[in-house]
Amino acid sequence: MELIERLPEGIEYLINEPMSRHTTFRTGGPADLMLLPSSLQELRETLSLLRSEGVKPFILGNGSNLLVSDKGIRGVVVKIGAGLDGMIADGDRVICGSGAFLTRLCGFAAENSLTGAEALYGIPGTVGGAVYMNAGAYGSEIKDILVSADYIESDGTFGTLHGTEGYGYRRSPFTDGDRIITSAVFAFKRGDRAKIEAKMEDIKSRRAEKQPLNFPSAGSVFKRPEGYFAAALIEQSGLKGTTVGGAQVSEKHAGFIVNTGGATTGDILSLIDIVREKVLKDSGVLLETEVRFIGEE
Ligand SMILES: Cc1cc2nc3c(=O)[nH]c(=O)nc-3n(C[C@H](O)[C@H](O)[C@H](O)COP(=O)(O)OP(=O)(O)OC[C@H]3O[C@@H](n4cnc5c(N)ncnc54)[C@H](O)[C@@H]3O)c2cc1C
Repeated sequence: MELIERLPEGIEYLINEPMSRHTTFRTGGPADLMLLPSSLQELRETLSLLRSEGVKPFILGNGSNLLVSDKGIRGVVVKIGAGLDGMIADGDRVICGSGAFLTRLCGFAAENSLTGAEALYGIPGTVGGAVYMNAGAYGSEIKDILVSADYIESDGTFGTLHGTEGYGYRRSPFTDGDRIITSAVFAFKRGDRAKIEAKMEDIKSRRAEKQPLNFPSAGSVFKRPEGYFAAALIEQSGLKGTTVGGAQVSEKHAGFIVNTGGATTGDILSLIDIVREKVLKDSGVLLETEVRFIGEE
């Protein structure tokens, strides 16, 4: 590939990289090329090269909300992770690289006696993916602590989005756009470290108790329909334990589809169709997926 010869010097890249190695579902075929920039400068140079070649990359965080086609991705994936994951405390604020794990941000806030992110502890995404999705749990959303997000625009210019206008249930001003989140600033309140840590532990055990964390998944597959709970509707339809190939509606939490071993994305998509059809027939509610599908159809 000609593109490879022109990549920023020293940048890590992977050819025909199985996406199953980069998604928490552990499914997905190969991406033609995956680039792993390890600094903001490398990311900037990478994006500039791709732009000059007319290539629009797919931006990957931790792959914890993704279903990647079994045929893979024809094109370039840019993974935002190590090297773009720095964080510093500045008074009651934390400035955090988008490649950092959200759970690490929560731990860092606790170490600095900063309260506000405890409920987000255990969401297995990056800070960039969490801002993009406006991830949330137990009555909190990341927008509740968000001050601003820095991004690179599709034309290569840098920008900052202040405030939380445009953030809503599992969506942000970045959703479905081309902007690449590079870092974000979060505001906390001063708190008691021991209490913050105890709250995080409580959240961790509540997750472990309710969620099938021993199997690969992407968390809740469906968004919460207004006035209902997706898991309750699925359970009422008697779908718990339903399987297609290696994919199963979790016995523990009906809102999760789990990969019990050897599932393909095709299995998961078929199971999603079965669930949506049955719930629509039984309850009249059309479930919308929270998990995002990408790759060759
Ligand atoms: C066991 C489990 C439990 C979960 N629990 C929750 C929960 O309680 N609440 C919740 O909200 N979610 C939950 N999730 C889903 C998931 O962790 C979140 O949606 C998370 O925010 C996704 O982050 P990610 O880095 O993995 O993003 P990815 O899955 O890699 O990407 C998701 C989207 O964000 C975009 N994106 C990622 N990084 C960037 C960036 N830097 N700039 C621009 N776009 C970007 C991608 O292009 C993609 O469209 C859970 C998942 C699992 C597996």
